[in-house]
Amino acid sequence: MLALTMQSGTFLWSGSDPDSLASLAKKRARTILCLDPSMPPDASKQKPTLNELNPCEICDSCVRFNTGHHVDFTDYTEILETEGYKITHFRQLRESLGHSGYSGNNRKVIYIPYLEELNPSCGNALLKMLEEPNENWFFVLTTLQEMRVLPTILSRCLISRLRPTKSDASLHPDLADALQDFFGSTKNPRALLDLFQENPELRPAILLKLKDTLIQYAEHQNKGSFALVRTLESLIDAEGLMKVNVNARSLLLDIVATWP
Ligand SMILES: [Zn+2]
Repeated sequence: MLALTMQSGTFLWSGSDPDSLASLAKKRARTILCLDPSMPPDASKQKPTLNELNPCEICDSCVRFNTGHHVDFTDYTEILETEGYKITHFRQLRESLGHSGYSGNNRKVIYIPYLEELNPSCGNALLKMLEEPNENWFFVLTTLQEMRVLPTILSRCLISRLRPTKSDASLHPDLADALQDFFGSTKNPRALLDLFQENPELRPAILLKLKDTLIQYAEHQNKGSFALVRTLESLIDAEGLMKVNVNARSLLLDIVATWP
């Protein structure tokens, strides 16, 4: 079994296309449960992150997953569609927290889509589970409206934000240069931006590298908006960039992601 490098067992995909969100969340679930996940040929790290791994699609676990019969995969889609999220669902789930998976690698994956549909009590019940880390439990979550998700939940997730794909021509040349420079690659800058967005651990480094360009951009886009520029500066200067206020961080990442 490959050793997985994980900062967190909680993954969230945020975007506007429910099908893409579901597909990515389920692929991650399959990878977590897969008995023999594979690395793409160009991955070079000795300890791959989950982002770099793919499910093998042929092991017993993958086959069960793909036929909809994986005992260690809990999918809340149907519950949401039939009853809506209720506090009892989360109480029941919490009671089973700590039980290992029944099959394969003993992991369990809980898939909760449309987090924006959680009322505050359900959100808090979920948060309590996220606060009790268990090495065998993984949450894969999606949302169409990140602003409606409790910030305390967001702060516990590795978030991948999906953006509508834009043409390469729309990427600001300074940002394209900075991305290629950062990754030491002449790859398509849009693909590098996707890589950046999907790998939260890269963000502090690249944001530091982009500091001057970002601030220039903010000044240009928001003439007179000193608050935005100061926020950017303090965010970028803050030690441990990933620990700063989640809303301010989203703002900064949005600027990068929607750079014209
Ligand atoms: Zn597999």
